[in-house]
Amino acid sequence: MTISSSLMSDDKGFGKAVYIATYGCQMNEYDSELVRSILAQAGYVFVDGANEADIVLLNTCSVRENAHRKVYGHIHEIRHKRQGRPVVIGVLGCMATGLRQELMDDRALALDLVVGPDSYKRLPQILTAIRAGLKPAPTLQGARYPMITTTMEHPGYDVTLSEFETYADVYPTRSAGVNAWVAVMRGCNNFCSFCIVPYTRGRERSRPVENVLDEVKRLADDGFKQVTLLGQNVNSYRHDGKDFAHLLDEISKIKRIARIRFTSPHPKDFPESLIRVLGENPKVCKQVHLPLQAGNDRVLALMNRHYTGAVFMDLVTRIRRACPGIALSTDIIVGFPTETGLEFNDTVRLMQEAAFDSAFIFKYSVRPNTEAERRLKDDVPEKEKTERIVRINKIQTDISLGKNKALIGQIEPVLIESVVLSKGNSVYGRNDANKIVVLPKGNFKPGDMVQARITAATPHQLKGEPLAS
Ligand code: SF4
Repeated sequence: MTISSSLMSDDKGFGKAVYIATYGCQMNEYDSELVRSILAQAGYVFVDGANEADIVLLNTCSVRENAHRKVYGHIHEIRHKRQGRPVVIGVLGCMATGLRQELMDDRALALDLVVGPDSYKRLPQILTAIRAGLKPAPTLQGARYPMITTTMEHPGYDVTLSEFETYADVYPTRSAGVNAWVAVMRGCNNFCSFCIVPYTRGRERSRPVENVLDEVKRLADDGFKQVTLLGQNVNSYRHDGKDFAHLLDEISKIKRIARIRFTSPHPKDFPESLIRVLGENPKVCKQVHLPLQAGNDRVLALMNRHYTGAVFMDLVTRIRRACPGIALSTDIIVGFPTETGLEFNDTVRLMQEAAFDSAFIFKYSVRPNTEAERRLKDDVPEKEKTERIVRINKIQTDISLGKNKALIGQIEPVLIESVVLSKGNSVYGRNDANKIVVLPKGNFKPGDMVQARITAATPHQLKGEPLAS
């Protein structure tokens, strides 16, 4: 929906139409929903493109290589397309904290605000301060406000990390759908050596159980059928002595919520209580994303992961024993600094042993301001990294195909999410294991739970036929 920003201008001609571009993980998607809610309360409205907006907020991610280049490119593109028409541009999210000084000092970007993940409640105040304190500066590549000179004193600058902020009192503005993301904890205390998140999102803190339950009840009232609980280290959730297993059990008592998922757990924080809930609670989906990262113990220690390959495999065995048939997915980094070919073979061996249903596999690349950048040289040649990723991708593709083919003939409950647009005559949903299942369209609509017999499989999705009701 496009809203004429001139209708929404205040007495100084400051338009209130906001466009939010979101990069990265589900936590960022959730945070953008929080920002929408906070700004809507303050009278801002939302548009579908940067071109119609008075304010463009880029909610950024620092996890992947080139993330900052993409964001810089997007900002320059917006300035170019606006052809000098005024627009306030701000960077939110992990880049705001991770690259704060660089962003504020970059004269070509001419950013109006840089706000970190714990300061979103201050956005209305920050936008008002920008409006009140600064005069238009038409000469600066279309930037509406003067160039930033004293970064730390600029009204648009707030990257304070909080020990307490959980946004427990904000109900995010979501689009209607089947699944809702719910952040139950924020931050991370783990300091994996390749990861910037503990520096950009601060220490772990969890929301009260009752507060999460209130949000999920409201989501059920709003028609959502599934919730996915989020946290950088979601299974280290703890509030007033209540752990993550307790939270899952409590949420499962909410009647109209059919499925509960969570992401991403750390393998080192997986107690028996959580394994029990996975095995016994029918609403908690039989699917866990369990990031392995590497299979060699020396490399795992360098990554600061706090487990060995054997400990990881023991966890896999205990989860599968409690929950036969559970789908496991993982993350793998190949070519971590100093990883030899032999050490990489340990990763291959563990991948085969664990037989994950799917894997996100990445070549290592240096992330600025991480421990790995400070202490380790990125010394595995690019060609070697490519060979490793090709090899391991092939292995995983074969495992995924084998696992999916084994489902042919089985009957699976499928929660319908959407019509497959490219064909128009199919719908897709997910089974309990989070695998995509494509079905003939029929009369199904998003949110329906359909019993389907699996008829075909590729490494990445399943096809099925609904059972006659
Ligand atoms: S657990 Fe490790 S990889 Fe995950 S957010 Fe924390 S530091 Fe990053």
